[in-house]
Amino acid sequence: MSIDPETARQIEELSRDNRPLLVLDVDDVLVEFIRPFPDYLKSKGHELRLESFRLHGNVYDTASGEPAERETVSGLLDGFFADQEAWQTLTQGAAEALASFGEAAEIVLLTAMPHRHRDTRRRLLDSLGVRYPLLTTEAPKGPAIHALRGTSGRPVAFVDDLPPNLVSVREHVGDAHLFHLMSDNALRNLMPPLDDGIHTVDDWPDAAPRIARALGI
Ligand SMILES: [Mg+2]
Repeated sequence: MSIDPETARQIEELSRDNRPLLVLDVDDVLVEFIRPFPDYLKSKGHELRLESFRLHGNVYDTASGEPAERETVSGLLDGFFADQEAWQTLTQGAAEALASFGEAAEIVLLTAMPHRHRDTRRRLLDSLGVRYPLLTTEAPKGPAIHALRGTSGRPVAFVDDLPPNLVSVREHVGDAHLFHLMSDNALRNLMPPLDDGIHTVDDWPDAAPRIARALGI
């Protein structure tokens, strides 16, 4: 699997940096997703019944009680991201954790979201006081983080709530330190055990010192 060409272009715009690299997912790592999304769905006549760890198949039309079609769920998700500034807020402890890293690491945000929402997400993050560079990708994250690291062999840490993203990074950056953080830990009950080498963190206060140690900062 190769890098999304638009993501590669976005990486080219960044200044070359040799500090330890910390890459963060956005939804349910830096900002809340799974808590506000059901409220958004309700405003659109739908509801989320999380019986498994996925959105498709778990969204229902409130009036009919029928499960929503795949295209309907995709459309609702797209609508939520278009309107994210009205719904999403920072995950608890994220701001303090980021502040604790200071300038010791290069921090980059990598969100798996259609590129057309990048400007909206940038505005959301700016409004929340989060100024780090934001990359969007429509392809697996591993190749993007491999490119971001550059050739210096600097330490890399990556935080995401979706195991497939962590596995993708492990495949492309074998020595990356991988952390699984979920803004809503109740969802862990719906997931299979994590693969070896992926570290579970309870929340940002738990994650911050472990990330700092991994990066040597
Ligand atoms: Mg996420």
